[in-house]
Amino acid sequence: MRHERHPSAELRVPRAKLERQVLLIDADDTLWETNLHFERVVSAFCDLVGFLGYANDYVRQQVDFAERTNIARRGYGAGSFLLTLEEVYLKLAGHRAQQAHRQQIRGFRRVLLEEPLRLFDGVAETLAYLAARHRLLLFSRGDAGEQSRKVVASGLAPRFESWEIVPEKNEAAYRTLVERHGLRPAQVWMVGNSPRFDINPALAAGLNAVFIPAVHSWEYENEEIRPGPPVPTAPSGAEGSGDEGGRLLVLQRFRDLQEHF
Ligand SMILES: [Mg+2]
Repeated sequence: MRHERHPSAELRVPRAKLERQVLLIDADDTLWETNLHFERVVSAFCDLVGFLGYANDYVRQQVDFAERTNIARRGYGAGSFLLTLEEVYLKLAGHRAQQAHRQQIRGFRRVLLEEPLRLFDGVAETLAYLAARHRLLLFSRGDAGEQSRKVVASGLAPRFESWEIVPEKNEAAYRTLVERHGLRPAQVWMVGNSPRFDINPALAAGLNAVFIPAVHSWEYENEEIRPGPPVPTAPSGAEGSGDEGGRLLVLQRFRDLQEHF
């Protein structure tokens, strides 16, 4: 479990609920299940190409490799992923490719984009609670159209002051966001499921972070959590003044946010 490695020295849990912070909240696999649907599609894809006789592991490897290559060209999202599957299909099937199979692959779109969103337990009530006490900004990565449709379909849109959908969540993206909204980094928390896209770049940008591991996480989003740059030490006797960046909270469930914010 790579998730469980985190720098304990950085784990400074606030003693009391924090007043009026800015919470940047990730969407996919933080508010609702996403990767599980992709896993189901890959599994269906393996069944579909079963007639070619390749081992499932080999097929999965081909999908992973093509996906990572294509993310750089086409970005994230269901549309990009389905094109990748079709490319892998054509490569594996060669002259045995069938038009009906390509239609089936395009049909996986229903699983990825048209099934009702399944919010994680406690998400709706927790956002309602948080929105009354703090500023909430949705900060997600991917295709702007796809992501926006999901936010609207989730019914959660009114909880957020704004939605920020970016092609890549890296340190620069966090710094740009903070600057554009005129935020004080020490009061900003990124809440998300991905060490690679939510936690590490936020800490590197001098923000705080709340890591909520997802049960069905995408391997691509994992990496070891790294502390951010040193933050100014609080005056002696004022340990945990609550006014410094670089704090990290690890929570089991989204609803646990209510205990800290
Ligand atoms: Mg996520």
